Amino acid sequence: MKPKKKLIRQYTYAVAFFVVVTMTISAIVTYFAQMNQYKELAKDRIRAVGDGLVAKLLEDPQDFLDYMNYYKDHYEELRIPCDFDECITARDKFFSEFRSEYPDKTFRLTVDKDEMPERLQNLYYTYRHEYFLLEFEKAREAYGLPYTYFLLCDDESHYTTYMIDGERTEDKNHPGYLYMGDSYYEEPSEHTLLWNTYHNGIRYDDVYEWDNRWGNTYSCYTPLVIDGECVGLVVTEISVSDVNTMILKNTALLILQLGTLLTILSGVLLFVINRNHIKRIDHLSEQISDFASTRAYDTVDAIRQYPYGDDEINTLAQNTADMIRDLQVHEAKVAQAAQFKSDFLANMSHEIRTPMNAIVGLSEMAVKEEDPDKKKEYINKINSAANTMLVIISDILDFTQIEAGRVEIVPVDYDVRKMVQEVVGALSMGLKAKPVKMNLNISPSIPQFLCGDYARIRQILGNVIGNAVKFTKEGSVTINLDHESVSDGEINLKIRVADTGIGIMKQDYDMIFESFSQVDSKRNREAEGTGLGLAITQRLVKLMNGTIEVESEYGVGSVFRISIPQKIAESADDKQETPAPEKFHAPSAAVLVVDDNSVNLFVAKSLLGMFGIEPTCVSSGEQAIKACENRSYDIILMDHMMPKMDGVEAMNIIREKFPAYKSVPIIAFTANAVEEARDLLLNEGMDDFLAKPVKGSDIEAIMRKWLPKEKIG
Ligand code: ADP
Repeated sequence: MKPKKKLIRQYTYAVAFFVVVTMTISAIVTYFAQMNQYKELAKDRIRAVGDGLVAKLLEDPQDFLDYMNYYKDHYEELRIPCDFDECITARDKFFSEFRSEYPDKTFRLTVDKDEMPERLQNLYYTYRHEYFLLEFEKAREAYGLPYTYFLLCDDESHYTTYMIDGERTEDKNHPGYLYMGDSYYEEPSEHTLLWNTYHNGIRYDDVYEWDNRWGNTYSCYTPLVIDGECVGLVVTEISVSDVNTMILKNTALLILQLGTLLTILSGVLLFVINRNHIKRIDHLSEQISDFASTRAYDTVDAIRQYPYGDDEINTLAQNTADMIRDLQVHEAKVAQAAQFKSDFLANMSHEIRTPMNAIVGLSEMAVKEEDPDKKKEYINKINSAANTMLVIISDILDFTQIEAGRVEIVPVDYDVRKMVQEVVGALSMGLKAKPVKMNLNISPSIPQFLCGDYARIRQILGNVIGNAVKFTKEGSVTINLDHESVSDGEINLKIRVADTGIGIMKQDYDMIFESFSQVDSKRNREAEGTGLGLAITQRLVKLMNGTIEVESEYGVGSVFRISIPQKIAESADDKQETPAPEKFHAPSAAVLVVDDNSVNLFVAKSLLGMFGIEPTCVSSGEQAIKACENRSYDIILMDHMMPKMDGVEAMNIIREKFPAYKSVPIIAFTANAVEEARDLLLNEGMDDFLAKPVKGSDIEAIMRKWLPKEKIG
């Protein structure tokens, strides 16, 4: 699956959101921050313009007073629009007329305005008017103000009169005006500001914000004082909405700049995120999806070699690589296990078919054979093959029981020397045909009696020595038995089995303890075995808190070392003593055998026959009950799994119906040989357990144990 690029899109949205929010907040903050600043600036500006204009008007105060007085009288005739461009013309006009009137005089120094002819006076004041008007207009235009004008204040009437006015925006047709008589008619109480300013000759310092007929304005009134007397006010105004527009424009510009900067920074940030983070995540996800589709294990290397850095993404990548590697190990194990199983099946098939071949072929021959000696030989071989099969089947059962944790260690007191001698003795039979010497060295200091699981230790010894015998063609098999003291009353039993056999390769040391595994199986083909012996051995040793080690040189030989903790005992239990080989005979014993399988009945009947016993054989629970009704038996061998009524049920009915049977031993006679079945049947009330396939010796042991003494012999 290809990466969807969703992550970078989400980052982009997040960054875009961040930019928009930042810009909005900045806009609001900037707007309010600028508002005060700009208002103050605007106010400062109109104050400055007012001061500038007053200074201009006061360049020649007397001249300005003359001009004012002249216009007080002549304003009506002079209320004419004034073209600023004509200002120069008016000045030239006056001077050229003046020169022709007074060819030998300079105006400023020599001629009093009052003495000039009226025509010349008129020209002069027109020129002055236009000059002042132009100054107001210049100031207005230069500072971008909507209004600049001069208010003439009349002390008597409280009226104020416009005198000079810059361009009025709403009066487009009359761009420049001389106003005289356009007056405020408000009473002083309603126009305290002007009134007070006019009287005191002090500039009203706080710029006045008011709503007048030309809109919302900030107005500054600067008094014009000549000879200590306030003659008028220079008014400079600025429109509030103009200030606001200015602030907005400025804010927008700032935000635009900020936005551009943020967008560039965001781009860089996203680029860095994409390059440093998302690229690595994409790489990892590509590797994972490649792995998912190809199952190629070089993904681990691809991930390990990629420069993931040393942050969380790297941890994720390395953990993923670990996981894939674990998966690889696990898959290999699964494949190996499958291989083991199929090898095992093939092997098992071989191991079971070989004795089966003998049983099937030889039994057919035995039936046809007339010669009793040959017949006996066949039957002996059949018996040996059947016993081999029994070992295989027991091994499988044993192993599954151990694996399921159902095997418990049952300690008994036993004679350790005797046990080892018996095992070695039995196994040296297998060496008869081979030039192999069997050596047994038992340390004289080993305590004679030990306490431990006799049967399992015997099994362990049997497996390890058995393997040594099996895999050695010539040379020797040497068994050393020693011990080391652990504490008072406890030793470690040390068993060392060395052979000069085929040896085991180092890499196979672990494998030989695996279940169903036979190493080097081609070379070992002639050696029989299920591959379960050492697996069982190792697990049993572990169960007893012991250790097993192997050391071998391939082609030279192997040494197995086993150490098992054992307690020291005073003597051996009777169980371990081999029974006296006196012949067992019980012709008077009354035995009932219950089994739904006629072959099993036949086997039991035949084996019992060896001891002179003639049993009653029945093939169901119901028949068993009936038989018990008719006769009393000394012992009952009861199959467990039978149709309709099973062995336990039959037993319960018999014991309930016929109280005498409460004390008669009823022995479970079953092919279900696992430990659990044994416990179950004993718990149900069976007195003992006889597992099928059954041998003469097993039957003998049971009979010896349970038959009344007077019936034996
Ligand atoms: P098996 O029933 O095949 O003997 P084991 O579990 O006892 O199974 O042994 C597993 C394998 O270990 C054997 O098949 C053999 O390859 C190897 N092995 C065990 N003991 C020896 C030994 N003494 N010498 C050489 N190989 C051995």
